[in-house]
Amino acid sequence: MGSCKGEQQQHRHDETHCVLVQGPIIIGAGPSGLATSACLKQEGVPSLILEKSDCIASLWQHRTYDRLKLHLPKQFCQLPLLGFPQNFPKYPTKHQFISYMESYASHFSIQPTFNQAVTSAEFDHVTGFWRVKTQDSEYISRWLVVATGENAEPLIPYIPGIHTFSGPVLHTSSYKSGSEFKNQRVLVIGCGNSGMEVCLDLCRYNAIPHMVVRSTVHVLPREMFGFSTFGMAMALLKWLPLKLVDKLLLLVSNFTLGNTDQIGLRRPKTGPIELKNVTGKTPVLDVGALAQIKSGKIKVIEGVKEITRNGARFMDAQEKEFDAIILATGYKSNVPTWLKGCDFFTEDGMPKTSFPNGCKLYTVGFTGRGLLGTASDAVKIAQDIGEQWRTI
Ligand SMILES: Cc1cc2nc3c(=O)[nH]c(=O)nc-3n(C[C@H](O)[C@H](O)[C@H](O)COP(=O)(O)OP(=O)(O)OC[C@H]3O[C@@H](n4cnc5c(N)ncnc54)[C@H](O)[C@@H]3O)c2cc1C
Repeated sequence: MGSCKGEQQQHRHDETHCVLVQGPIIIGAGPSGLATSACLKQEGVPSLILEKSDCIASLWQHRTYDRLKLHLPKQFCQLPLLGFPQNFPKYPTKHQFISYMESYASHFSIQPTFNQAVTSAEFDHVTGFWRVKTQDSEYISRWLVVATGENAEPLIPYIPGIHTFSGPVLHTSSYKSGSEFKNQRVLVIGCGNSGMEVCLDLCRYNAIPHMVVRSTVHVLPREMFGFSTFGMAMALLKWLPLKLVDKLLLLVSNFTLGNTDQIGLRRPKTGPIELKNVTGKTPVLDVGALAQIKSGKIKVIEGVKEITRNGARFMDAQEKEFDAIILATGYKSNVPTWLKGCDFFTEDGMPKTSFPNGCKLYTVGFTGRGLLGTASDAVKIAQDIGEQWRTI
């Protein structure tokens, strides 16, 4: 197999249904895949995006609730080379974010190949090329960019008795709106950003959410003194040590939100930023759920012992009936299910080190820093591949 450069973008060898790709193969047409493709284009490098669903940003289009807004201000969520439209609010809605993604793809003429779920990707050490298989084709390239996301699959923990429950059980990735749960008693398992926001949404439809808070959690106000808490923390970290920034954040949070321990939301001993750095656990940015907890509209419960046919038994021996259960239990990467013969990822599907390694394998969007991490990954990857591209 020779150089891909100068050849047609794709060669189809009919018998094998094999496609030789000019430039890198990017797996995933979410924000990370699109950003990398745009940055590569800027470097003069073509690429091919393989996407398992039928649209770009499928997480945002298909697996998020209607009321979702960006958690962080737009300046921390924009992709490289083309920012959000000026008239967008500070916290764009999910629909605005999707329209931004669509204009981004069209601005850079990015046309992913849809309905191509990657089932295996393996580096061929003999030829020095990646062989990427989907359900109906094999794609071959020198470079592989993994952009399948930290949130590729719902994380469903084992909960005793869950299969006996007679009502609906759904993960937040299938939750759209509280309108489906009007006046119902809903058990929400998990107290991260999604759990809190789903509870808040349920309240708006007169449902009665009970939120299970099994472990400790840091809740911070989304804004402090009119500035985004995230932005403030980033700015302070440039000047002050991490532990001091954590102390300041907690001081202001306790002042504005009160002592969350008293309403069943115990704070971890480690500060919010240190905890994020050490464990990846993101603090909750409050957008109104806390007020509903204080008013008693969202009820906080400690841990589920087991789910029963009509409800749940809790660690404190209480037993309650519920009409529905929503699992706000997070997501996981799916990389280990399709990336073969490579120890670059942990069992949880997270890269062990940052790029690049000998196999010309790159990862974008796995830094635990959301879209901000995506933007810096995409620029670095494109520069690195761009340099190689010019020397082929
Ligand atoms: C409810 C919610 C709110 C969020 N809010 C924010 C926020 O405000 N700010 C922020 O920075 N981050 C936020 N995030 C994190 C957010 O997921 C990311 O920032 C962003 O979507 C990551 O983009 P990505 O392209 O890396 O991954 P994704 O958006 O998950 O895109 C990955 C793509 O890969 C595709 N794919 C997966 N496996 C395969 C396969 N085997 N073959 C082919 N294609 C595949 C998927 O279909 C998907 O389209 C939020 C996440 C959630 C769940």
